[in-house]
Amino acid sequence: MAETLNIFQLIGQEKTRQYWSTLIQSGRFGHAHILSGNSGVGKDALAFNIAATLNCKSSQDKPCGACRSCQQLKNLEHPSLKLIFALPRRSASQTDPYSGIKETEMDLINAELFKKMTWPYYHLQIDGANDIRIAAIRQLRKDIYLGNDMGSTKVVIILRAHKMNVEAANALLKILEEPPPKTIFLLTTEFSDRLPDTIRSRCAMHHIPDLAWELIRDDLVHKKGLDQVQAEICARMAHGDLAAAHTFAEQDNTFWLDRIRATLNTLAKEDFVSVHRQTLLLKDKELENDETRQQFLSLLILFFRDVAMDSKPGDTALWVAQVQQLKKLFPECDYHSAVQAIERTKDALERKVHLQLALTALFFELRKHLRGQST
Ligand SMILES: [Zn+2]
Repeated sequence: MAETLNIFQLIGQEKTRQYWSTLIQSGRFGHAHILSGNSGVGKDALAFNIAATLNCKSSQDKPCGACRSCQQLKNLEHPSLKLIFALPRRSASQTDPYSGIKETEMDLINAELFKKMTWPYYHLQIDGANDIRIAAIRQLRKDIYLGNDMGSTKVVIILRAHKMNVEAANALLKILEEPPPKTIFLLTTEFSDRLPDTIRSRCAMHHIPDLAWELIRDDLVHKKGLDQVQAEICARMAHGDLAAAHTFAEQDNTFWLDRIRATLNTLAKEDFVSVHRQTLLLKDKELENDETRQQFLSLLILFFRDVAMDSKPGDTALWVAQVQQLKKLFPECDYHSAVQAIERTKDALERKVHLQLALTALFFELRKHLRGQST
C-alpha cells in the first residue's frame, strides 16, 4: 500500500502527513497555511505533497504519484502550481520578477529548480536571491485571478516565505484578504516570527517537528551508502536537518574534525594572536560559504555536547580521541554556556553578520567557557 501522503520522499513526519491527509479528505480547511519548522524537516516536501493530493486524479490513495496531475507536480510543472521563491534583483521592474535576468543566469536557476524537484529537501542556491519582492506577488496576482481550469485547485507555495520584503508581504496580504476561489496558499518558513503579524493572522499555523537523528542516519545509510558510524556522526551533527546531513555526508568528516582540533588547540593557547590567526584562517580558507560555516559550528556544538554528556557516536577512534583531549585540556569547561555561545553565533551568521567579527567574538567567549570563567 502506498504511504500516506508521500510521493516526495518525505522522511518520517507520519503524524503530520496523517493529519493533512485527514484534513484534505474532510474538505474543511482554510485557504492559507504557514508550514513552519527547522531547516531540513521536510516543509517543502510536505507542501508539494499537499499540492499533489489536492489535484490527484486517482479515486483512492491520493496522491497516487502515477496520474498525469501527480506526474506534472513531481516535475514541478503543474499548471495549477505557483511556486514563489527569492530571485536576484536584476531590474527595477515592479511586475516581472524575472526582468533583467540573463539567459545564462536563468539556466542556473532552472538547474537549481531541477535539484529541488529531484529532492525537495534541497535548498535552492541562487546568487543574489536575497528577497521575495513585489514583482513576484504582482505576477502571482495576475496568474491566480485568471480563469481556473475546473476541477483543479491552484496551489501557491511560497518557499522561505520570511524572505518576502515589506512591499511583497503587503501585496500578498491583499490577496489573502480576497482570495480567489479554489486556491490555497502554503507558506514554508524556518522563521515564522519574521512574517508580519498581519500575514500570520490570516493563516493557519502548522509546526513541522524536528526529525529524529536515527531517521536521518538510516536515510544516509540507504541513500548515501555511508557506514553506520559515519552516518551517525553526520546525522547527529545535522540536528534534525536532513538537507544539512546530506551535505555533511558528501564531505570528508576527517577534514572537519581536523578544523575542530586546530580550533581547540588554538583556544588552549594563552596568546590572543593565535586566536586571531585561527579566525582569519577559517574565514579566508575554510569557511567559504554559509553551509560550511554552519557545518563547522554544528560540529563544534555536537562536540561540546558529547564531551558534556560523555557520550560517543558509534566508536570512531578519531572522535573519541578528540573528546578525551578536550576533557583533559579543560577540566573546568562550562559546556552549557559554550554550546549557547555557538548557537547564538550560528543564528547571527544566518542573519549575515560580519564573519570574522562573529568568529573572533565567539572564540574569545569560548576561551572563557573552556576555562570555566563564564562570569
Ligand atoms: Zn495522482
